[in-house]
Amino acid sequence: MGDSEKKEERPTTHSNSSSSDEEEGSDATMDMIRRFFAHTLNLGGSTDAKADPDFKVEKVIPNLSFEGFADHWREHGFRKIVTMVGAGISTSAGIPDFRSPGSGLYSNLKKYKLPHPTAIFDLDYFEKNPAPFFALAKELYPGSFIPTPAHYFVRLLSDKGLLQRHYTQNIDTLDRLTGLPEKKIIEAHGSFHTNHCLKCRREYDMAWMKAEIFADRLPKCEKCNGVVKPDIVFFGENLPQRFYTSPDEDFEDCDLLIIMGTSLEVQPFASLVQRPGPRCIRLLINRDAVGQASFVPWMDPHERSLLYDRPNNTRDVAYLGDCDSGVLALAKALGWEDELQQLITSEREKLNASQPQKKNEELDKDKPHSDPDDAASNSQTKKDASL
Ligand SMILES: [Zn+2]
Repeated sequence: MGDSEKKEERPTTHSNSSSSDEEEGSDATMDMIRRFFAHTLNLGGSTDAKADPDFKVEKVIPNLSFEGFADHWREHGFRKIVTMVGAGISTSAGIPDFRSPGSGLYSNLKKYKLPHPTAIFDLDYFEKNPAPFFALAKELYPGSFIPTPAHYFVRLLSDKGLLQRHYTQNIDTLDRLTGLPEKKIIEAHGSFHTNHCLKCRREYDMAWMKAEIFADRLPKCEKCNGVVKPDIVFFGENLPQRFYTSPDEDFEDCDLLIIMGTSLEVQPFASLVQRPGPRCIRLLINRDAVGQASFVPWMDPHERSLLYDRPNNTRDVAYLGDCDSGVLALAKALGWEDELQQLITSEREKLNASQPQKKNEELDKDKPHSDPDDAASNSQTKKDASL
């Protein structure tokens, strides 16, 4: 589910080929790449690229640097944008990466003697022993955190009528808290927003669950006494139906995919990068250089291939840095800086006004809030009543 489950499925792309004759192999591969792109990019085109030995891969925009991309956006615009995000867009909200060793959260769980760390999200384990999950849920409970500039940038895209869909791996509900319309959001790994009894499937709302969790009670169904579980996707559970049904429509004629704060290591979420057509620009905003193609992209079994660091790149752009810095740089380049800032300020005021009383003091006091630019970070409040 999360960003730190990386590398476990990194493909071994060279396992079937000898690396001793790299020179020759490289020529052959370049030829294959030429043919591949000639084939892929010639859809509806008229050039006889396959026959042209000097065929050069055609870039979707002339300059694939971040600056070149921003210039293109300012001058030509985009019409149908899809965003896909992971934990990296929530870290500046103070949400700890609870999967990282040393983050303190797992050590708090030592007393539960988990068989392995991910057991906490294992459905079979949960059914036998739900207590560790609820202890973690109390630490991470949404409502103690406010959305980041990166979240609000997505909202701004929606306000401008440019956002087709927002796919999030996060379970923190910050995407919703921006005021982004629910129909625009696909919470691929579920969220704490709704909860269901594991036995009779009766639904419980977020406020009910929160009251149970913060009272240190095991949430039990009022009808059948079954355990009530937040609708976050555990190992062994399917992703929400919309994750599978929505992409066909969303990526048809999509001209920009923005990928933020995700390792692109967790499937099937990461496979979304392969959904748009070859003329769709893919912008990565992430601290680490992730999602790189294996040397022969169409042989990547995990279909993670972004080509921003490759000579045969035709449409991928990377901003390697914090998500917030990335969206602020973009907003500045597009002349949206004031608009974004006003949106952040007014929405955060709304959140704070809707929840005047802070209740999670024991939660807040040991959480550093590193929100760089906003007074609202000093008045963390819970906000689920606004949902
Ligand atoms: Zn029940």
